[in-house]
Amino acid sequence: MTEIDTATLQRLDAAHHLHPFNDNAALAKRGTRILTRGEGCYVWDAEGNQLLDAFAGLWCVNIGYGRRELGEAASRQMTQLAYYNSFFQCTTEPTVRLSAKLAELTPHDLNHAFFTNSGSEANDTILRLVRHFWAVQDQPEKNIFIGRHDGYHGSTVAGASLGGMKGMHKQGGLPIPGIVHIDPPYWFGDGGDMDEEAYGRHCAKRLEDKILELGPERVAAFIGEPVMGAIGVYIPPRNYWQEIERICRKYDVLLVADEVITGFGRTGEWFASQTFDFRPDVMTLAKGITSGYIPLGAVMFNDRVADVLSGRGGELAHGYTYSGHPVCAAVALENIRILQEEHIVETCRNNIGPYLGEKWKALAGHPLVGEARFLGMVGALELVPSKPSRTYFPDRGRVGQLCRDFALQNGLILRATNDAMLLSPPLVISRSQVDELAEKTWKALDMTA
Ligand code: PLP
Repeated sequence: MTEIDTATLQRLDAAHHLHPFNDNAALAKRGTRILTRGEGCYVWDAEGNQLLDAFAGLWCVNIGYGRRELGEAASRQMTQLAYYNSFFQCTTEPTVRLSAKLAELTPHDLNHAFFTNSGSEANDTILRLVRHFWAVQDQPEKNIFIGRHDGYHGSTVAGASLGGMKGMHKQGGLPIPGIVHIDPPYWFGDGGDMDEEAYGRHCAKRLEDKILELGPERVAAFIGEPVMGAIGVYIPPRNYWQEIERICRKYDVLLVADEVITGFGRTGEWFASQTFDFRPDVMTLAKGITSGYIPLGAVMFNDRVADVLSGRGGELAHGYTYSGHPVCAAVALENIRILQEEHIVETCRNNIGPYLGEKWKALAGHPLVGEARFLGMVGALELVPSKPSRTYFPDRGRVGQLCRDFALQNGLILRATNDAMLLSPPLVISRSQVDELAEKTWKALDMTA
């Protein structure tokens, strides 16, 4: 490739590239930041700025940047057999090995993998296959999905409909029929004076009320992110998911855990359903499955669902050209090997996670911070105009953006949603990098205040 200067790249980007989740006109004026390199927990931009990535790209670079082994795994597989599909009674070795590895790693009897290219497609897949599961058991009317307001399950038509982001629903006439939403657990915004347990029961009861309102014979599944990421890292009360599971079992509603963010170590266990000790029937995965090095998603089905789908479902009229792509599978296997052999999840749980948690929670001492939430390796700071009141700034989102920009000026990537600053660093962050992260966050808060 010939060298091309930054200004030219920015000009071409503004002219030809529509960025997702951006005001593209504003971005064109401001100029896109061109990133050129990554190593460990740092990325570098074309201006030569070194940035500590406290967001792991987009919740995904769990093993950190620059691991040659993943590139080598991709290169080996590309030269040996770059592609073959999983249609027509075929498959490839990495694809089979990855399905078996996921069956081994995921809890309980989530033993059957269906591969997609992304988390959105994984959630599209469950909408179709879960409805099919009920239909082949002569219950085609059991087809409504219950999701949560402010949930995020991706950007495709079904993914965005299952999610509860109002801004997304406005564009393109969503949600599609057959999907309804309940309020999520968000203690800071709506917990009032309830203690954790009472609030957990209160929030789970919203599901039971909704199932009874619709009629259990019409409800196919409930879907939720164990920790709601995109909306602002809402960490539910400890008893919430067990209550949700009890309700799903009572009414024979399938329980779908969207572990696209939380899978592969983010909450201190391999999967957040282990952290919260509940048993999903279906689990969606992406992001950390390859640490973001290559696109891949998966749906894990338990024995009950898979037995019906494969035993009575006939031909699955569903799939993608790249379902089970051998190169993506080879990269995922290498990523999982590194996570396992380097004991990365265990180190997060026992060592670096508690240290990061201590430093992050100490930021609650800043006058601008109303709450510091943290679990495993993920967290948020809720920025507020006045500390004790649990209220919001009038122009919601502006202060968060300011803080994000100040953090960037100091060489730190944090994401802002509304006025919450979100944390999700590579799982391989060191203690000295945690110190740097905490120091730079405090400085950004000071500059914002
Ligand atoms: N589900 C959750 C919980 C997510 O956070 C995301 C993306 O951030 C998705 C699904 C969609 O995944 P993708 O962007 O790979 O389609």
